[in-house]
Amino acid sequence: MKEVLLSELEYITPKAAATLKKSGIATVEDLLFSFPTKFDDYTIVKYDDAIPNTTVTVGGVVQNKATVTNARTKLSIMSFFVDIDGAKVRCTIFNRHFLKSKINYGVYVRLTGKFNDLKKGFTASEISFNEFSNNINPVFNIKGLSDEKILELKEKVYDDFFTEIEETLPKELMQKLNLIPLKRAIKYINIPESNEEISKAIRRIKYEELLTYQLKIKYLLYMRKCHPQGVSINYNREKIDEFIHLLPFELTIDQKRSIEEILNDLKAPYKMNRLLQGEVGSGKTVVAAIALYAVITAGYQGAIMVPTEVLANQHYATFKYFFGKEGVNVALLTSSVNPKDRIAILAKLKNREIDILIGTHALFQKDVEFGKLGLVITDEEHRFGVRQRVSIVGKGYLIDHLKMSATPIPRTLAISVLGESDISMIKTLPSNRKEAITRYLKYSDRREVFDHMRKEIENGHQVYVIVPMIEESEAIDLINATEVYERMVKYYEGFCTVGLIHSRLKKEEKDQVMKDFNDNKIQILVSTSVIEVGVNVINATTMVILNADRFGIAQLHQMRGRVRRSEFQPYCFLISDTTNQPSIDRLKLVEENSDGFVLAEEDLIIRGPGDFFGEKQSGMVPFKMANLVTDRDILEEVNVVADEIIDNEKLFNDPGYNKLYEIVDTNYKNNKEMLD
Ligand code: ADP
Ligand code: MG
Repeated sequence: MKEVLLSELEYITPKAAATLKKSGIATVEDLLFSFPTKFDDYTIVKYDDAIPNTTVTVGGVVQNKATVTNARTKLSIMSFFVDIDGAKVRCTIFNRHFLKSKINYGVYVRLTGKFNDLKKGFTASEISFNEFSNNINPVFNIKGLSDEKILELKEKVYDDFFTEIEETLPKELMQKLNLIPLKRAIKYINIPESNEEISKAIRRIKYEELLTYQLKIKYLLYMRKCHPQGVSINYNREKIDEFIHLLPFELTIDQKRSIEEILNDLKAPYKMNRLLQGEVGSGKTVVAAIALYAVITAGYQGAIMVPTEVLANQHYATFKYFFGKEGVNVALLTSSVNPKDRIAILAKLKNREIDILIGTHALFQKDVEFGKLGLVITDEEHRFGVRQRVSIVGKGYLIDHLKMSATPIPRTLAISVLGESDISMIKTLPSNRKEAITRYLKYSDRREVFDHMRKEIENGHQVYVIVPMIEESEAIDLINATEVYERMVKYYEGFCTVGLIHSRLKKEEKDQVMKDFNDNKIQILVSTSVIEVGVNVINATTMVILNADRFGIAQLHQMRGRVRRSEFQPYCFLISDTTNQPSIDRLKLVEENSDGFVLAEEDLIIRGPGDFFGEKQSGMVPFKMANLVTDRDILEEVNVVADEIIDNEKLFNDPGYNKLYEIVDTNYKNNKEMLD
């Protein structure tokens, strides 16, 4: 629509225009496209259909003059009899004594309120005298202007400008998806006359929002792949196969397929943007190592960035081991590297004496310059902040990027928020792994857990005990963990050794505890958070989580994965005395389900998409009406339609698709500008 300021319209006072502007509504388009937040339904219900104690609107004829009590005090009560569909009902309404003179025998009233159980009495919250007034009142929630006023303005503005509302969807698509034209949707949503109109309008708006969103994503993907800008990495396949052959185990089918997908991206002239998904312990690290090795065989360098120092150290050790015989130079860069060593590392990095750099976000500081960077891998990328992510992009947006995640991404988010990425999945764990036996118990059953721990330890295994945040204060958490630790020490005195690890320990102290646990000098490790124990201790088979209700589904499932690292039978105990029903349901779900994807879908429903990704993706779902969680069916449908449109490139030149193309292409250009 062409831009018309509301302040230019004669029927809008300067004051009203200013008020609207404060709510972000400055133009005709703004006004027509700011939708009601809800609709109050005053459709009249028949007496027989009205359910007692639920809010309904009824119509009737007044039978007597109203009587008022307490007219002068704060709470006035007015009552009168009404004939509602032949039933004589005593109606009560508070604080409307000023309407008394209007309520006389034979007057029609429309009442909104509730019947009592016997339907002999009706307590009204609203009363009107107009038989023909609107049944449905949209609620706009605009500060400083009543809903009636807004509705009146919308009616006028719509009448004057509706011809200018441009259709965004081609006719054939509207027919196919059974959608009403945009013009009509804008009328129905703002000035509705029936519930049917509202649902038609909502349907049209949701489809449009989700379709354009999917199209934008698919267009980005299309441009990345079909009009590539990037480097083609000519790796040495023979060397890669040799490297794989030398591994101490046979790769799983899913690992093999993921590697092929990654190699294919590396060779292709487009920028790789791939997500490698697999639960903790599914063997993503070795896939990452092979991908890095591939770029090295082509004379490039690779980088792998992880969210914590513990993980960086762990990857460093693993990679040193993997590449020991290959003459590959692996270096570690974290914020604890001293300045002198750092300078040396940076120099080597620049003149390509380092092949693989492993580290935390310290990798992507300004002065870190690679001689010839070919691949960036980020592990658990969603745990990095926005700024850090932007700086990865800054290192060269055309550089192939592999993201690894152990958090199963529900399909809804995979096709929407993450739709721009290709996805490789490792679903099957290395064949020797068993599912964790999970029990949800109360504190009163703790003996059972203690006995189980004793048995496992007798069999040579080890145990994690997680004591989560309970209070806001770190100090109190520490007291909790320390208390648990001390009790364990006492209980198992002379039987085994208990260790304690928490965020307040110095790095060397942490490392020492972890080392002792790793060497089985400690059999029970008490920790305030699982991040501290983010390492691979194959011998640990039991995970005990205290106050398990404090954790979300995905977190619980991840923690359970920590003890699933060998052929031994893993166990997980969720201990909680919560009486909160949703928490109980959550714990039961985790107890009964071991499929990370099933759990992820549930998690999405409970927590919503923003929460799912944390800082990074919140604000990535710009819908006025649509909802990624509750409108999953629509999303699936438009996803197919979006694919068809993008696959059929010639539609880009079809006049019916002009407007859609304009929307997605503008978005693409903005995105590109941001990256350049
Ligand atoms: P992730 O990074 O997905 O959490 P890791 O890569 O750390 O998992 O793998 C967990 C453990 O499984 C490691 O000790 C690794 O060496 C081992 N592993 C990986 N792939 C296989 C395989 N195909 N067969 C047997 N063990 C494997
Ligand atoms: Mg990993």
